Amino acid sequence: MVDVKVYAKWAGPIVMIGFGSIGRGSLPLILRHISCDRKRITVIDPSDEWKHIVDSENIAFKKVGLTKANHKKILEPLLRASSGQALIVNLSVDVDSLDIMRLARKANALYIDTVNEPWPGFYYNTKVDNASRTNYALREKLVALKSKMGKGPTAVSCCGANPGMVSWFVKQALLNLARDLRIKTEIPKKRDDWAKLMKKLGVKGVHIAERDTQRGRDPKKLDTFVNTWSVEGFISEGKQPAELGWGTHEKLMPPLGRKHKTGSKSAIFLERAGAATRVRTWVPEIGPQHGFLVTHNEAISISDYYTVKKDGKAIYRPTCHYAYHPCNDAILSIAEMFGNGGKIQSRVHILEPHEIADGKDKLGVLLYGHKKNAYWFGSQLSIGEARHLAPYQSATGLQVSSAVLAGIVWAIENPNSGIVETDEMDFRRCLELQLPYLGPVGGMYTDWNPLKNREMLFEEPIDKKDPWQFTNVLVH
Ligand code: NAD
Repeated sequence: MVDVKVYAKWAGPIVMIGFGSIGRGSLPLILRHISCDRKRITVIDPSDEWKHIVDSENIAFKKVGLTKANHKKILEPLLRASSGQALIVNLSVDVDSLDIMRLARKANALYIDTVNEPWPGFYYNTKVDNASRTNYALREKLVALKSKMGKGPTAVSCCGANPGMVSWFVKQALLNLARDLRIKTEIPKKRDDWAKLMKKLGVKGVHIAERDTQRGRDPKKLDTFVNTWSVEGFISEGKQPAELGWGTHEKLMPPLGRKHKTGSKSAIFLERAGAATRVRTWVPEIGPQHGFLVTHNEAISISDYYTVKKDGKAIYRPTCHYAYHPCNDAILSIAEMFGNGGKIQSRVHILEPHEIADGKDKLGVLLYGHKKNAYWFGSQLSIGEARHLAPYQSATGLQVSSAVLAGIVWAIENPNSGIVETDEMDFRRCLELQLPYLGPVGGMYTDWNPLKNREMLFEEPIDKKDPWQFTNVLVH
C-alpha cells in the first residue's frame, strides 16, 4: 500500500471542474495527500452520473456545464466562497483552459489542468484551415498569455501523464543516458543547459512511446467506442491533424507535411488525422509496434524546450511525437469510426477498473539516435497494481491522476510562478511525489530502429544512411 503521507495543506476553496474518469481518480488522491477542508470543495459537472461518489465524501456537487457565457458567473462566487486562496483543478472536456486561467488570475487562485482545452467548436471547425486546428495553435496562445501575464499565482498547464509526467521522464532519462555514456554533468538548472545536454548526448529525437495492453472482460460491442480514458478527449485529438516537434536533423518533409507560418515554428503538422496516421516505435516487453501519431502538447513543448539557438537560429532541436498504441478495444473502435467516414459510434464507453481483466499501461519516453541507439524510460503499471493503490483507477487513469496530485503539490509549494508548462517544473520533486503510484519505473536500451527487420516489398521513401529519420518512422 502507498504511504498515506500528507504532502501539503490547503485552507481555501477547491473547485474541481469535470468529474469524468480522471476527476474520479484525482479526488481520492487529493483527499489522501492534501490536508484540506472538504466543506470547501465543490465538484462541477453537467452529468450527475457519478454524483453519488462526491456525495459519499460529503462534498458539494453542482450539476452544470461551464460555457463561455456562464463560466464567470458560476466560478467567481465559488472562488470567493470562503476565506483563503482558491485552487481550481480543471479535469473537464470542452472548457477553455485559457479563459479559466484568466479567471484564476483575477481571483488570485492557483490553477491546474491536464490538457490545453478549447471551448467546443475548435476541434471540428471546417471553416478554418487545418493549421488553426492544431495543438501548436493552442499552445502559441498559451505561450502568449504566459508572457503577457508574467509572474503571479501559479497556473500549471497540461499536467497529466502525457502531456505532463513524460516531460519529467525526459529529464531523468537524459541524466541516466549521460551516466551510461560516461559524460559528466551536473543536474542542469536552466532550460538552456537542459537543451545543451540533450544536444551533447546526441539525442536526435524522443517518442512518447505508449502501449496500453488493458483488456476488457467483455469484447467490444458493435457501434461502440471503447477506451480506458476519455473517449471524447481521444476522438477530438485523434481527429486533429497529426503533429510533431520537428528536429533539426530531419532531411525530408513527410508527404502532406506542412510548416507553420508564425510562432516558434518548432513543430509541423500533416494534412491528415492523427488517429489515422501510424508511426513505428518500441516499448519494453512488447518490442517494436505501430502507434498513432496523435497530436499532443508535449510533442511541441518538448521540442521547443530542448532547442539550442545561435544568433536567433535553431542549431539543434529534437524531433518529438506521440506514438500511441491504445488498448485493443480502442484500436477496433478507431477502425470502426474511420470505416464509417469518421462518424462517431452511437455509444461510447470508458472501461471501469472492474471491467478490465488484465494488462498494463506502458508509458515512457524513447530517446533515440545517440551512441547507445535508443533508451526507453517509463512506467509499466498494471491494472492489478492500480486497483490496489487507489480507488476508481485504471492503470492509465492512475498515471494521469498521480501527475495531477504531483502538480497540485508543486503549485502549492511554488505559488507565484505564473503559467508553467511541466518541462519547467522541478522534475525530481514531481517524480518523488508520483512514484508510489507508477508501478515499476525504469529504463532500458534497445538495438531496435525503424529499419530493423523491415520488409521492403514496396517502394518507400527510405533513408538508409540515417535510420532515425522521420521518413523511416512514418508508416507511409
Ligand atoms: P471524461 O470524458 O471521462 O470526463 C470529462 C468530464 O467533463 C465529464 O464528466 C463531462 O461531463 C465533463 N464536462 C463536459 N463538458 C463540461 C463542461 N462544459 N463543464 C464542466 N464539465 C464538463 O474525461 P477524462 O478521461 O476524465 O479526462 C478529463 C480531461 O483530461 C480531458 O480533457 C482529457 O483529454 C484529459 N486527459 C489528459 C491526460 C494526460 O495525460 N494529460 C490523460 C487523460 C485525460
